[in-house]
Amino acid sequence: ESGGGDHIGWSSLSAGGRVPLGLKRKSLRIVVTGGAGFVGSHLVDRLIARGDSVIVVDNFFTGRKDNLVHHFGHPRFELIRHDVVEPILLEVDQIYHLACPASPVHYKFNPTNVVGTLNMLGLAKRVGARFLLTSTSEVYGDPLQHPQAESYWGNVNPIGVRSCYDEGKRTAETLSMDYHRGHGLEVRIARIFNTYGPRMCIDDGRVVSNFVAQALRKEPLTVYGDGKQTRSFQYVSDLVEGLMRLMEGDHVGPFNLGNPGEFTMLELAQVVQEVIDPNAKIEFRPNTEDDPHKRRPDISKAKELLGWEPVVSLRKGLPHMVSDFRQRIFGDQKDSDA
Ligand code: NAD
Ligand code: UDP
Ligand code: UDP
Repeated sequence: ESGGGDHIGWSSLSAGGRVPLGLKRKSLRIVVTGGAGFVGSHLVDRLIARGDSVIVVDNFFTGRKDNLVHHFGHPRFELIRHDVVEPILLEVDQIYHLACPASPVHYKFNPTNVVGTLNMLGLAKRVGARFLLTSTSEVYGDPLQHPQAESYWGNVNPIGVRSCYDEGKRTAETLSMDYHRGHGLEVRIARIFNTYGPRMCIDDGRVVSNFVAQALRKEPLTVYGDGKQTRSFQYVSDLVEGLMRLMEGDHVGPFNLGNPGEFTMLELAQVVQEVIDPNAKIEFRPNTEDDPHKRRPDISKAKELLGWEPVVSLRKGLPHMVSDFRQRIFGDQKDSDA
């Protein structure tokens, strides 16, 4: 039996997965590595609200205490400053492994994806915990198949500037499957497509955060290349719902988690103009090496087996991110003419 279906509404999951109505679900002990980051902190919010005990393991490489400060002092919340490249001993039921240098400016050489993932798999094996890996659509490289289904093996340059990230995540998937097959570990693999929302890093160079920050600061929106390359943008609450369904379900995956709505970078710039400032200028810049031309998830598998699909469109989600960015960039003072 699959872990979900259209008959299971979002709210029934929040109330405790597949536990029959009226029965109280046992509270779980859950580790979220990278829980001080953008996606991780939203996941922690949901897990705490659901009644679970959460231990965040984060070295604050790109994450911030601010993202979690509202849980400080909560009896079911713990925050450990720790680099997952070093071993750690914990007793838990589930591990959401998100720790990763997640943005192009932070890729470079970093062993987190390989060594960090190995340590978390070792931890999961020792205590018999279920392990969820947040992999990425980057495993498809510059895809020759469109849209991308999970069965596609990808088109990745092993020696390019982005390969530390792509190949790091591909290795993390391999390690997870080896622990699954070799040690009977319960693993779950999500391949996440471009995600945006409140708490995203402001200056980490990703396109949505760049455009939003630029429009708010009255700077030109920097479009790389001809701006005709495409991406599909998923709102963070949809992703978190998908991750929790995947963890609670019975399927290993990998599962694509993304919003199939596909936009060129020029179209994205237009949406940002609509939402923030119709007078925002656009400026073209040279593109980065090995930039994927097209990317859009085929989410049939997640729809069928997890009963999941995104519900928040770009035009609905973007304003939430804009108010968060406005607050963080300008503090309490209002940006009068936006
Ligand atoms: P993020 O940078 O906001 O979060 C990553 C977190 O990991 C940060 O809090 C960082 O401090 C922490 N971290 C990094 N290295 C660490 C280490 N060695 N030890 C402990 N903590 C460490 O990024 P995010 O967007 O929230 O991404 C979360 C996960 O989702 C990542 O694994 C990323 O690869 C994956 N993902 C995200 C997207 C997206 O569009 N946001 C797309 C594909 C995949
Ligand atoms: N590990 C960890 N916490 C644990 C168990 C293991 O950090 O609770 C690390 C361990 O230090 C090792 C990695 O996970 O580097 C893989 O552990 P495993 O037991 O699978 O491999 P082995 O140590 O047998 O090579
Ligand atoms: N991009 C852009 N302007 C920016 C930042 C990025 O046009 O200021 C482009 C980038 O070249 C790529 C797309 O936006 O084609 C998505 O880039 P991002 O780094 O956000 O995500 P990824 O490449 O990992 O999908």
